[in-house]
Amino acid sequence: MSYKILPLISTEDVEKGIQQIADKIAEDYRGKDICLICVLKGAVFFMTELAKRIPEDIRVTMDFMSVSSYGSSTVSSGVVKIVKDLDESITGKHVIVVEDIVDTGNTLSYLLEMLKDRQPASLRLCTLLDKPSRRTREVQVDYTAFSIPDKFVVGYGLDYDQYYRNLPYIGVVEFDD
Ligand code: 5GP
Repeated sequence: MSYKILPLISTEDVEKGIQQIADKIAEDYRGKDICLICVLKGAVFFMTELAKRIPEDIRVTMDFMSVSSYGSSTVSSGVVKIVKDLDESITGKHVIVVEDIVDTGNTLSYLLEMLKDRQPASLRLCTLLDKPSRRTREVQVDYTAFSIPDKFVVGYGLDYDQYYRNLPYIGVVEFDD
C-alpha cells in the first residue's frame, strides 16, 4: 500500500510543547525527587528531551518498561503483557509515567492500575500526544503537549511498522486510495 507522510507538528513546536510540560513539572515537584518511567519504545525521545529540561533542584531517576497488548496489532484489547518490567521498585516514590500517545486509553488504564498496586507516593501520567476522540476507557492525563485528531501519526518516537521513529517532527501517514 502506498502512502505519504504529511507534517503535522514541527520540531520547533514539539520542543516548545515539551518545555511547557517540563516547566509545569518543575513547579509541581519543586524540591522533590521524581522517577520518570518511559514506556518503550515510542516515548524514548520524548522522555529524554523532557528529562533534560527539568531543573536540577528536582532529582530525576529514569526507568524503562516495555509492554505489549494482547489482540491484533491495530486494536488494543486492554490486557497488557509486561515484556520488560522496571529495574527498580517504585514504592514510596513520586512517579511520572511518560507515554508517546494516549489513544483508546486501554494500555494506560491497565498499566496505571498495575503500577498503583506497587504503592508509589504519587503517580501521574504525562503524554506527548493525546487523541481524546478515540477514548474508550477513562484515563487521567496529568500532562499533555498536544491533542490531535483521529489520524495515525509517526515521528518523534512513534512508528509505522517500526519505521519513522527517528523523524524529528510529528507527521500523519496518509494512505493513497
Ligand atoms: P491505547 O491503548 O491508548 O489505545 O494505545 C496506545 C498505544 O497505541 C500507543 O502507546 C501507541 O503505541 C499506539 N498508537 C496509538 N495511536 C497511534 C498513532 O497514531 N501512531 C502510532 N505510531 N502509534 C499509535
